[in-house]
Amino acid sequence: MSAPEALPLPVEFASAPLIPTEPVGACPVCRAVDFAPFAFGYDYESRTCRNLWRFVRCAACGHVWLDPRPALSTLATIYPPTYYAYNYASQVNPIARRAKEWLDSRKMRRIVASLPRAPGSFLDVGCGDGRFLRVMESRGIPRSRLFGLELDDRVVRPLADAGFQAFCERVEDCSKIPDGAIDLATMFHVIEHVDDPARVCRAVARWLAPGGVFAVETPNLDSLDARLFHRTHWGGYHIPRHWSLFTPASLQRLLADAGLTPFAVRFQTGHSFWMFSFHHWLRYEGRPMPRLARAFNPLRGLPMLAAFTALDIVRATLGARTSAMLVLARKPA
Ligand SMILES: [Zn+2]
Repeated sequence: MSAPEALPLPVEFASAPLIPTEPVGACPVCRAVDFAPFAFGYDYESRTCRNLWRFVRCAACGHVWLDPRPALSTLATIYPPTYYAYNYASQVNPIARRAKEWLDSRKMRRIVASLPRAPGSFLDVGCGDGRFLRVMESRGIPRSRLFGLELDDRVVRPLADAGFQAFCERVEDCSKIPDGAIDLATMFHVIEHVDDPARVCRAVARWLAPGGVFAVETPNLDSLDARLFHRTHWGGYHIPRHWSLFTPASLQRLLADAGLTPFAVRFQTGHSFWMFSFHHWLRYEGRPMPRLARAFNPLRGLPMLAAFTALDIVRATLGARTSAMLVLARKPA
């Protein structure tokens, strides 16, 4: 597949900047340098730039990554202050927020149930406003043993002031977490954003106590919606902010290479990937239908949000591989 003439720049992108890029050149999982184009697309979600982006696939291990990717100097452009992950609570419908809180606590309950005993310490990489730190506090872990890493100082400072071990640092640079100290580490929808996922996993593996568990959630390329919208519109691409796209196999390999033993793969609801896929397709393919597309925006279309969440709960219950996977790995005792 060569650069697609069939993907002309949508008119709405005309005033967006062309941003500097840098080549990656080797597979972030296995370091092989033999790869081929996999998919192309634009920043359909936020229209922060007008670059045509390319995902490539490793010929050796099948991993998919963005190459070239945005230069580090452009991070403030591709993650603007309006980026919804920073303002989730204020943007989303209150009913949707309640539903998400319910799904989140259900997710944590199931993760904790997979540990041999109740964890005495917890780390959340990409802890946001600390909602999972508070969930674990309610399960009896003191704030002195609750660690969080986040890149936005506006959310880190209040957590640190409240006594949580919260730090505004990248995993790769962090020296504040003692080695062998963490019973449970979680990383929800972060690994796909980092420049060196192997290095991130090695750091977390070092922080884990023997027998400690690392739970990683990320988009799953081996899913129905990823196949249906493969060419350009899949919501899980999140172009150009997702730099690595995993399958259950490639993520388990990454964790094993970091010295951990993967022991479970679970499928969560991928409702926002379904919705953004339809949104991008309706908004940008053929004759654009922006008003209809809006009903599929996960931040606005509540009936669709409920429908796709229910769809994926049923699919996951029936054993389908949804587009959001949770992989659990243990540090050998
Ligand atoms: Zn590879």
